[in-house]
Amino acid sequence: MYICDVRNRTYHWQYLLKTSCCNATEREAIDANDSWACPACINLNQNEKKNRILDSQKREIVEISWNAFTYCKRLLIRQSAVAYTIMSNLLPLALHQNS
Ligand SMILES: [Zn+2]
Repeated sequence: MYICDVRNRTYHWQYLLKTSCCNATEREAIDANDSWACPACINLNQNEKKNRILDSQKREIVEISWNAFTYCKRLLIRQSAVAYTIMSNLLPLALHQNS
């Protein structure tokens, strides 16, 4: 996978080949470099690249967070509700069978 340094988008090599953005002989040169710009960004000047990076950071990068405590609390409440439902349905049946 190739990640554009300008706007943090990931490209699969087969996609780059199919769209004729790159050819097979260019792959080694691209792999040898630490940085790479996709065909949409490679011809931008420095100012345009800065603007695209800022635009990408503002609009495209999504932060995902996970609060383990809240998740566990909700899970315990849900499990307790399920256990209560099961017991309240099974207990009368068990009592009825024993009587
Ligand atoms: Zn790009």
